[in-house]
Amino acid sequence: MWSMPDPIRESFRALILHEGSDEPRAEITTLTRRDLPEEDVLVEVAYSSMNYKDALAITGAGPVVRSYPMVPGIDLAGTVVESSSPDYRPGDRVILTGWGIGEVHWGGMAEYACVRSEHLVPIPDGRDAFWAMSVGTAGLTAMLALMALDEAGVRPAPRSPEPEIPGEETADASGARPERLPVLVTAASGGVGSIAVSLLAGAGHYVVASSGRHESWPFLRSLGAAEVIEREELEQPASPLEQQRWAGAVDSVGGSTLARVLAETRYGGAVASCGLVGGGALHTTVMPFILRAVRLLGVNSVLTPKELRLAAWERLARELTPGMLHSFTRVIPLEEVQGMARQMVSGRGRGRTVVQLRGEA
Ligand code: NDP
Repeated sequence: MWSMPDPIRESFRALILHEGSDEPRAEITTLTRRDLPEEDVLVEVAYSSMNYKDALAITGAGPVVRSYPMVPGIDLAGTVVESSSPDYRPGDRVILTGWGIGEVHWGGMAEYACVRSEHLVPIPDGRDAFWAMSVGTAGLTAMLALMALDEAGVRPAPRSPEPEIPGEETADASGARPERLPVLVTAASGGVGSIAVSLLAGAGHYVVASSGRHESWPFLRSLGAAEVIEREELEQPASPLEQQRWAGAVDSVGGSTLARVLAETRYGGAVASCGLVGGGALHTTVMPFILRAVRLLGVNSVLTPKELRLAAWERLARELTPGMLHSFTRVIPLEEVQGMARQMVSGRGRGRTVVQLRGEA
């Protein structure tokens, strides 16, 4: 049952980043309606969320913020309070991820945000703002990766405790596409990784998760990973073509890991490249592409066109229940955002973190 959001108060809380000499200075402050930028929709923000990019912005570890002062938060979900757009009315429940919020435009870590209507999508029926931020940019990215793999023909194969690893000759010479190789998810304990494991396993893929932390292994199995392997195994320099191990992959690491994953992907397989926690450089050869017809699929959740966004959110609503997300989502207040950002840039992020603004505890 919907109830009208509170009218905007005289002042409200926000996390603000100010330019500093070494790193940005973050403070929790109070703003008024007049401080907000002039856009066509005012949203009462229930929750924001923490993504690796937010952690880079807040700690200053990466060049994310384009101008100061900046309200960080590349995600928000809440309720429309005022709108001069014909597309939204007060009371509508909305999501905004990407489109430069928290980078170029003020973001989600404030109790109110004034945003562009064309950047909003409705919260899917049957889901709420908390669910939306448990998913957030990380979940949207994981879904875009899964959809890209799907479109590239990387479909679920029958589950098997002993996945068949075919000889290279068979696959390359005949062009045959062995059906039972696993799908790999790298940086699996992180936001993108953990949701990718959940979604792929839920869709029926045999999922191998790669992780640098042993303590995460039971967690990854609980999400549906059939096997977990050491992060280090994939960091080793690769020959142009290695033994075929993967039908496809969702990679958030980049660098030498992505180069190895490409060399280990089977004939006709595909790799969705989402992130760069291990490095932005990619040193590889064309061999996986020209001898194995491997496809490297780019994923960008920031500028995803509306139609694809809507399709991805609808599919997320069907495939990720609140119960599934509950096990790997924690909620923090604004006061804990900086500490969490430091954890994430030091590689200790796990699952999803929702930031509570005006949503219920
Ligand atoms: P998180 O901080 O939630 O997770 C990162 C995970 O990466 C960690 O949990 C850890 O998992 C692993 N990791 C950490 N350090 C290293 C390292 N040095 N080498 C290899 N693995 C490491 O981040 P997100 O899931 O939010 O983001 C992951 C990546 O995806 C980032 O690069 C981010 O910028 C990118 N991204 C891209 C998007 C797009 O639209 N393309 C959207 C969202 C994110 P484990 O311990 O299991 O190894």
